[in-house]
Amino acid sequence: TTLESMQRRYANRNPKSLAFYNETLKHMPGANTRTVLHALPFPLTISHGQSTTLFSVDGHSYIDFLSEYSAGIYGHSNATIKAAIVKALDGGWNFGGKNQYEGELAKILVERFGNGMDMIRFCNSGTEANLMAIGAAIGFTGKQKILAFIGGYHGGPLSFPEASPKYSMNAKYDFILAPYNDIKATKAILSGLPPDSLAAILVEGMQGAGGSIPGQLDFLHYLRMAATDYEALFILDEVMTSRLAYRGLQSTLGISPDITTLGKWIGGGMGIGAFGGRREIMEMFDPRNGKLTHSGTFNNNVVTMAAGIAGCKIMDEDTVEKLNALGERLRNFIDTSIEKLLGAAATPKMYTTGLGSLFNITFAGPEKDVLHAVFYHYLLEHGIYIATRGFITMNIEHTEEHVETFGKVIEGFLAEYRDAL
Ligand code: PLP
Repeated sequence: TTLESMQRRYANRNPKSLAFYNETLKHMPGANTRTVLHALPFPLTISHGQSTTLFSVDGHSYIDFLSEYSAGIYGHSNATIKAAIVKALDGGWNFGGKNQYEGELAKILVERFGNGMDMIRFCNSGTEANLMAIGAAIGFTGKQKILAFIGGYHGGPLSFPEASPKYSMNAKYDFILAPYNDIKATKAILSGLPPDSLAAILVEGMQGAGGSIPGQLDFLHYLRMAATDYEALFILDEVMTSRLAYRGLQSTLGISPDITTLGKWIGGGMGIGAFGGRREIMEMFDPRNGKLTHSGTFNNNVVTMAAGIAGCKIMDEDTVEKLNALGERLRNFIDTSIEKLLGAAATPKMYTTGLGSLFNITFAGPEKDVLHAVFYHYLLEHGIYIATRGFITMNIEHTEEHVETFGKVIEGFLAEYRDAL
């Protein structure tokens, strides 16, 4: 009933969003083209964004703590990126030819993530980057099996949720699944494989969509070693985690992947994916003598390439560090508030997980779905926007003040709902 009355208030507060929703329902299933953006009773329609603020068509504004699921690392309408895009647009935006931008972005990324990444190629999304990486591993090793992890997410057709869906939309690769952060179980699964069958191990250094669950250092090092032992490629999906250190999470972990996949923020906020790796792997794509092909009309599109160059320059070491420190501050603040009001930094029903500028506030137990929904609506009523699943990602426009504001709202929520937590 708490949730029902919140949803009623929400519907009353957002009549224009409701009208957009109803109109869109006629032409899109569930008025939706990104499952993750579905929210009950209907999602807000956003009219525009500026810096850290999102504005809805209903005239309300929200501090944006979702930051486009981490791709919006620059905040909205970043002036430097906008200028780079406008400058590029003046020369036309897609040539059906090589352009002067793609090589520059490739150089920036290879120099930055060069730990095991000698060469790189671009595509349009993180999903595509992972599909290409898997294809490359199969092509390179001549083997078929791909070890992935329960709770892992590498894109729509590469997702392995805890509770498997009724109908899997996954690409039909020969996947085998192991539990994340479980060396013993993974070892047993690997040792049960037919000889010479493993092409790759595909893993996130922190499971993102799986709930911001950091990979344990010994687990990830074990996987790196196992890939070598089985003569398979170690593919580290850094689509999300590449923001966690200047040279990616792999630099913090001290791990050299055979292939790294990237996406999200590296395109300056435009659609992008990239995969890069050791020279002998990437040279399979060399049209002069390689055995693999890789095409895509928009792989080198001028807007994305120009925005990516500008964006990557903004994300220098200092900016990356400050962003992650601010995320940690907010998360600590939330943990401290939970401890102050509920008696322990995490309760079985409410806790945070994550790293740096990427984290989750998670509710567990039989009431978890209701708690997530109540929390989501509570935050919206107090002017804060996050993902329905409790996912929070910081952007570089966030300040201490935003952290304080969010912290106070969390304290209000805890005070009001302590009995349910
Ligand atoms: N890999 C990871 C770890 C992700 O978090 C995501 C997106 O959330 C993807 C891949 C897919 O990227 P995209 O949405 O650009 O296809």
